[in-house]
Amino acid sequence: MASTIKSKLYAGIEAGGTKFNCVIGTDPQTILKRTKIATSTPEVTLVEVKDWFVQQSLELGPFSALGIACFGPLDLQPASPSYGHITATPKPHWSKTDVAGYFQSELNVPVGFDTDVNGSALGEHLYGAGQNISDFVYVTVGTGIGAGIFVNGALLKGMVHSELGHIRLPRDPSQDSFAGNCSFHGDCLTGLAAGPAINARWNCSGSALPEHHPAWDLEAHYLALMCVNIVMSYSPKRIILGGGVMDQRHLFPVIRRKFAQLLNNFMLPETPLDDYIVPPGLPGTSGEVGALALAINAELELR
Ligand code: ZN
Repeated sequence: MASTIKSKLYAGIEAGGTKFNCVIGTDPQTILKRTKIATSTPEVTLVEVKDWFVQQSLELGPFSALGIACFGPLDLQPASPSYGHITATPKPHWSKTDVAGYFQSELNVPVGFDTDVNGSALGEHLYGAGQNISDFVYVTVGTGIGAGIFVNGALLKGMVHSELGHIRLPRDPSQDSFAGNCSFHGDCLTGLAAGPAINARWNCSGSALPEHHPAWDLEAHYLALMCVNIVMSYSPKRIILGGGVMDQRHLFPVIRRKFAQLLNNFMLPETPLDDYIVPPGLPGTSGEVGALALAINAELELR
């Protein structure tokens, strides 16, 4: 029997490479229900997620819209025949999966669809460290590296969406003999500095490495180079660094120091670096907040 919740209900999915974080809320900050479903194959995972939402809607009432913040790359061009699909992802089984279309037809609600990192950036813009900042970059450093780029108060979309995680960085083989493990590029940023690269280089999970292990100085070096490239490319007013690797909060002061050294007084922000390169304001939840915001946007666009 449907409950007596008066407010509209929105559904959100933060679709990641290891789990689908599913939430139901009345607004992006009021979560009523949540569950996590492991990412296996599309045939299994999408059905499990759909079934959970169907069950919840029987208990809570119908949803007004669904927002999906999904791992990519994605087709985000509304006019494209493959809009809403995951395109060429290194994640096995998921290339060419129609994620948005599946849920639209199964749940029969408006669907907002964007990258997982754009969802998190939207969440940070609405309620976190990107509030009232028209131009900022949110980067997640975890299983992969991705960025949501706000320009003039809106997410940069362009041809597809940013894939900042795959920019090329200088690697000095005398300092780092690890050749990188991006399946597309080897030693791009993701291949050098995402969580799996740390694990592969040191043959040890990053979370098990002590704070003073040389892994972290090298990690901070690559992330500082990334921040330099972000400043030169977008001139943002803030850089927010989130994701599992950035739970190592001791990285932040080292990144800021190396960033300043690398800039060498060229384009050095006027903002103190403690306020310029910052952790998320919604650590661990910016993705689900963003997914619900995408749902509300999808409903508004239909009016
Ligand atoms: Zn790459």
